[in-house]
Amino acid sequence: MTLGTGVGSDEAIALAEEFGAHNYHPLPVVAATAEGAWVTDPEGNRYLDCLAAYSAVNFGHGHPVLLAAARDQLDRVTLTSRAFHNDRLGPFLEALAKLARKEMVLPMNTGAEAVESGIKIARAWGYRVKGVPDGRAKIIVADGNFHGRTTTIVGFSSDPQARDGFGPFTPGFVSVPYGDAAALEAALDDDTVAVLLEPIQGEAGVIVPPPGYLAEVRRMTAERNILFIADEIQSGLGRTGATFQCDNDDVIPDLYLLGKALGGGILPVSAVVGNRDVLGVLHPGEHGSTFGGNPLAAAVGLAVVDLLETGEYQARARDLGEHLRERLLALVGHGVVAVRSVGLWAGVDIDPTLGSGREVCERLMARGVLAKDTHGSTIRLAPPLVVERADLDLAVDALAAVLDELRASPAKH
Ligand code: PLP
Repeated sequence: MTLGTGVGSDEAIALAEEFGAHNYHPLPVVAATAEGAWVTDPEGNRYLDCLAAYSAVNFGHGHPVLLAAARDQLDRVTLTSRAFHNDRLGPFLEALAKLARKEMVLPMNTGAEAVESGIKIARAWGYRVKGVPDGRAKIIVADGNFHGRTTTIVGFSSDPQARDGFGPFTPGFVSVPYGDAAALEAALDDDTVAVLLEPIQGEAGVIVPPPGYLAEVRRMTAERNILFIADEIQSGLGRTGATFQCDNDDVIPDLYLLGKALGGGILPVSAVVGNRDVLGVLHPGEHGSTFGGNPLAAAVGLAVVDLLETGEYQARARDLGEHLRERLLALVGHGVVAVRSVGLWAGVDIDPTLGSGREVCERLMARGVLAKDTHGSTIRLAPPLVVERADLDLAVDALAAVLDELRASPAKH
């Protein structure tokens, strides 16, 4: 192997299998290069990326503006730690706060770190501002949630695969059915400091709550002096046709948790965004991260915010999302049981008698389309927002062909 060149697909997979921990079960496809919505393997085969790294690649692979921001910063300074200031962080924080119509930003790296940070902030706020007795702070979460993989976070997951074998878990969380405002209201008490929700549950299969649910959550939390924390790590930053999915429901949470696309598909960048009365509870030394807010991340994050400010990507997600939805709905009754979609984000439930979601994704891959299954027979489609209408047609045509194939001869499983 020479410096700068990779290995062929078979070797890449064999090496990853032999030397990598088996905490993933990837499709047997190897990316060597990528541009826009398309990925190319070492042998030159092209695939339409309909996952976009779980929405981290909302702006497409190799977006020229984002690459230029990163390259420029690579030659200047990349890491200082927060022991010193850097000249990129302040402008990024200001731009992100303004984009979210909030006052302050806590920069971190991964999504899970943003969630952990949100939890710490909510607890500190509960004790120091709301006056909850020490050690009693309670956070309400929803069944089916996915907020990341740390021990605290998996402790309040309802997915046995995420949880089992990793306890003991952090106390202080209560889970209620997602989308059920009455159940959530019944769980609130004087010790409740926050409600933590995904505005759309992505990993659960693009589960969209009933209309008015988020507004109800906002009303009941505001009335009881409880923080509403929206985990927009996957739903935010253009995916659903708005800057935040909460915008689609005219709801403004107390804290936004952001990640994934904030790093432009280049590096991990996450953030907690809120007002001074909440984020201001943190004092020096109480929270931090060596890499959080580094100048390279800030330069890329600032360029991401600039792209979002144009509104172009949100508009693409809305318009193309309509088209995707119409085309997917036409497959209902032809191998598809149900379609849920908002913007360019769709959960497609496949008739489980035909084959598993994995089986469908493997067959899609063979036809040059990359998608990801979740929870048995659901597949998720979330192409980069730069995808073309003709690409979406290609993806849906491939899905229709796979379903026809399976209907003629169902997979054995
Ligand atoms: N929150 C949500 C809603 C997510 O979808 C994810 C990842 O899929 C996370 C948090 C965790 O992000 P990360 O994998 O960057 O830690």
